[in-house]
Amino acid sequence: MADEERPQILDDIGDFESISMEDAISILGEQTRMKIIVELGKAWDERNHQQQKLRFSELMEAVGVTDSGQFNYHLDKLIGTFVGKSEDGYWLPNPGMRLYRLIVSGTVTERGVREDIDVDDCPSCGGTVWATYRDDNALAFTCKDCATGYAVIPISPRGFTDRTDEEALQAAFRTFYCELRLARQGICPACDGHVEAKLVDDLNERLEALSASGVISSLKCRMCNNYYYSDLSSIALTTDEVRRFLIDGGLEPPLVREWHDVTVAADESVTVVQTDPLRVEITFAVDGETIDATFDSDHRVVSSTRSDE
Ligand SMILES: [Zn+2]
Ligand SMILES: [Zn+2]
Repeated sequence: MADEERPQILDDIGDFESISMEDAISILGEQTRMKIIVELGKAWDERNHQQQKLRFSELMEAVGVTDSGQFNYHLDKLIGTFVGKSEDGYWLPNPGMRLYRLIVSGTVTERGVREDIDVDDCPSCGGTVWATYRDDNALAFTCKDCATGYAVIPISPRGFTDRTDEEALQAAFRTFYCELRLARQGICPACDGHVEAKLVDDLNERLEALSASGVISSLKCRMCNNYYYSDLSSIALTTDEVRRFLIDGGLEPPLVREWHDVTVAADESVTVVQTDPLRVEITFAVDGETIDATFDSDHRVVSSTRSDE
């Protein structure tokens, strides 16, 4: 294809090169450079619905530096790696934008301080399931009356901004549901790398507490060590088959939680139908109707049967 026929979106961004991990750390480990990324990330062109490119002097002023030689030195280190340069100014390509988004999510700067949120009745003792925002920016769902730990779900501090407690909980559950669904499909939500799925039945004491059935799901990214250990009912909720069954029964899967009857009963119903490799059947029941779904070790649904079909 001749150059002039190339789609514009291929040439919009210019050239960026791969760099080593050492180079990335050395480029980013400097205050002015990180401020440049933050100021470029903040700049937004409302009218054109795109990033606002900043000229040298605008960017220098936003960063708050007066020595233009020194500023130019730092900016130069970022160009071609984390910052783009074109005739009408400087801007962030995807790698710089990803860094900026991580910073503004609050994940790297803020530690959670929130009042505990009253979430639900505890199915074990009738007490209360509370959501506690831990210092590591994850919500821990526990019953303080019977000391049961139900789930830990990460949420960035921005997840609480301009939301009521219930809206923040919903945001956390919906995000987690999407992440778990992606991970089950073999895609890491953090780095896009390859996630390995395994059914595990030789559980240590800590993992045993996760599962009434004695089998848990392990999803782990080969690239970045992102991992999810989960009971099988939560995994099953992310499949099209179980999701459709629950929606037909009037339930919305992202908001059906680990301690709700429908998932507790499903977790207790897990049957190992084959060992080495493991294959399990799990049954969900809503209003007298059931679905039996069989999972292989890769977390694929190999068969499913509904009582109402
Ligand atoms: Zn309890
Ligand atoms: Zn990953």
